[in-house]
Amino acid sequence: HAKRHGRNAIQYFDDGINREAQQRLQLNEGLRRALGSDELFVEYQPRYDISGLKVLGAEALVRWRHPEQGLVSPMTFIPLAEESGLILELGGQVLRQACVAAQQWNRDSLTPVPVSVNLSPRQLRDPDLIGAVCDALQHSGLPPELLELEITETVVIEDINRVLGTLHELRDMGISISVDDFGTGYSSLIYLKKLPVDTVKIDRSFVNDVPGSTDDEYLIEAIISMAHSLRLRVVAEGVETEEQRAFLQRLGCDELQGYLLGRPGSAETMIGLTRDRSRDGASRKLPRLLGE
Ligand code: C2E
Ligand code: MG
Ligand code: MG
Ligand code: MG
Repeated sequence: HAKRHGRNAIQYFDDGINREAQQRLQLNEGLRRALGSDELFVEYQPRYDISGLKVLGAEALVRWRHPEQGLVSPMTFIPLAEESGLILELGGQVLRQACVAAQQWNRDSLTPVPVSVNLSPRQLRDPDLIGAVCDALQHSGLPPELLELEITETVVIEDINRVLGTLHELRDMGISISVDDFGTGYSSLIYLKKLPVDTVKIDRSFVNDVPGSTDDEYLIEAIISMAHSLRLRVVAEGVETEEQRAFLQRLGCDELQGYLLGRPGSAETMIGLTRDRSRDGASRKLPRLLGE
């Protein structure tokens, strides 16, 4: 009896694995087809100064609207694309779109508002990365000073010598580098000292439970003070409440990103957020009326 039961369990288990593998395969095929189509598009989430009043930048976040399944999360399809290699094509498209959008919103902006683009580990190791970046900048006309690339800490640790050269090259072009999801990997801040980076982004999971969780409070405090001693800017991710914002301000955090200040939105939304109001029709009318 027990034996039969065991075999059934294994059979069932196998089916489960096959189904999952098949789903992944199908999703990846769908993604291959979606490349270059309008199923894939980019949204932009604004980054604000610590008081939450001034837009200082925006992060490009890729979206996939699957014809049958609707919106698929990047947490699902980015790892698939990373595994299959599609990420190189996908990442290049995001980079190009993001640079074009940023060039557009900066045309009407009073102050320069850079765009940040996520780089996957495979992209960072790609020998053609510099070429792809140059291509996106040239195609869009965006100055390199208005492009930031977000990398994750694990890739850097695993492959530091190879990645170091690439990062220096990007930096020399005028591009900024930030370390994303900081605190979730294995690296210490000491590692950052060796890296040509400008900014660390504290992962959302640490911001979630402050104020209140003493562990996370101390952790954030430590990250901010050490990052500042290395002359790095600090961005807090996933800020959802005014209490979190006020807490981060007390600790000296530099920038905020999160639903409290703005969800990811279209490039047009960013144009609205960054537009130089003095050039708007509405504000131009006044002096004209007065002159008449
Ligand atoms: P990430 O780079 O850490 O991006 C931040 C994620 O947090 C985004 O999720 C954003 O929508 C979400 N978020 C922002 N503020 C809040 C908040 O206040 N509360 C909550 N609950 N969430 C918030 P999203 O867009 O689903 O992206 C997930 C991850 O997928 C990104 O994490 C990034 O690692 C990856 N990703 C997205 N777009 C790209 C891309 O173009 N290339 C690569 N390589 N990875 C990407
Ligand atoms: Mg990011
Ligand atoms: Mg992040
Ligand atoms: Mg994150």
